[in-house]
Amino acid sequence: MNEKVKAVSMQSLQFSDPEIATILDEEKKRQQDSLNLIASENMVSGAVLEAQGSVLTNKYAEGYPDARYYGGCFFVDHAEKLAISRAKELFAAGHVNVQPHSGTSANIAAYLALLNPGDRIMGMNLSHGGHLTHGSKINISGSHFHSFSYGVDRDTFLLNIDQVSEKALEVKPKLIIAGASAYPRLIDFEGFKEIADDLGAYLLVDIAHTAGFIAAGLHPNPVPVADIVTATTHKTLRGPRGGMILCQDKYASVIDKAVFPGMQGGPLMHIIAAKAVAFKEAKSPGFITYLEFVLANAKALARALTDLGYDLVTGGTDTHQVLVDLSNKYVSGLEAETLLDRLNICVNKNAIPYDKKGANDPSGMRLGTPTLTSRGMGPDQMEEIASLIDQALAGRHNPKKLEIIKQRVGSLCQEFPAYSK
Ligand code: PLP
Repeated sequence: MNEKVKAVSMQSLQFSDPEIATILDEEKKRQQDSLNLIASENMVSGAVLEAQGSVLTNKYAEGYPDARYYGGCFFVDHAEKLAISRAKELFAAGHVNVQPHSGTSANIAAYLALLNPGDRIMGMNLSHGGHLTHGSKINISGSHFHSFSYGVDRDTFLLNIDQVSEKALEVKPKLIIAGASAYPRLIDFEGFKEIADDLGAYLLVDIAHTAGFIAAGLHPNPVPVADIVTATTHKTLRGPRGGMILCQDKYASVIDKAVFPGMQGGPLMHIIAAKAVAFKEAKSPGFITYLEFVLANAKALARALTDLGYDLVTGGTDTHQVLVDLSNKYVSGLEAETLLDRLNICVNKNAIPYDKKGANDPSGMRLGTPTLTSRGMGPDQMEEIASLIDQALAGRHNPKKLEIIKQRVGSLCQEFPAYSK
């Protein structure tokens, strides 16, 4: 009996759960056979994947290195210390907490650390490119705190620091949040800090999308400017799915207490080890080159789409993402997403600022270049992909044309494999 029980723990996935094994195979094939332009996604290295799928998943380690509530933490302590010291060096941060399970957890923990229920917060409007956790009424950030939002300029769709300042003076928030999910331009962190300082408010900068650029030194670093910086580790930073908080030393204790025991129990030590691996990769010169290509590819995509008559929100990009207003093409964001999905081109529908259409079928789509760049594609491929998207939208009622586009997508995917065989 004992032997039988033990045997179960040694079985392969294929043997113990063929249904899930098949799903994994199918998803791998889907990733291989499609052009992924989802701006918030990326492809991690084999090393990150290995750490993530490791025996560290078996370990409980509530607490922090050298101060745990469980025995046997010697090795995971070492992994967490490495993750922390590498992140500190990458972002010139006084203190880093690598335990948040996600970007959402990182934001909520930061609010817990700084605010009381009902306090006023002000973040970027969700429909202008902000994130749910920046005060949306359907999220805990908007239901537990009194939330207000600022938007982008009506004509340029750019953030205008004077307009943000006006709104802040009217609202008098205790916390201002800068950062976005769908905004393709640099954000003036120092301008935000001046506004916060004038009001005696905290400034939180959420770099979920742009952390990779900041680590690579290609975007200004908000860590020395803001009170708190939150990030995801899985987007441009190309690490495992997760979050982190970076801050000045004076906030170390309140932040750590807010994460554990404030809102989480045991940290995911396998993910923390994978974060450490990703931070090490991000310190290599190859990572800078990678992010330079991510940016060059986004710019090439933006240029090609503009040449094809597409209307880009803010007219271009300083980041990995391009926001396309499809109104002048008489196709909605949902229609574009659904049609392109059928051709194995993966994009997401997205609201554009002051959108006349609803959130479920908005006027825009968001495109991003991190995954395709990880596959080795460059500006030439971006031009071709812009043309394929255009041909697909223009020929959406022509099945023969769509079939030819799908075949070309397939051959591009073969030319730039996502995974080695
Ligand atoms: N903050 C921003 C700006 C984001 O774009 C996202 C996710 O897309 C998050 C936070 C939340 O990250 P997660 O999905 O890991 O909770």
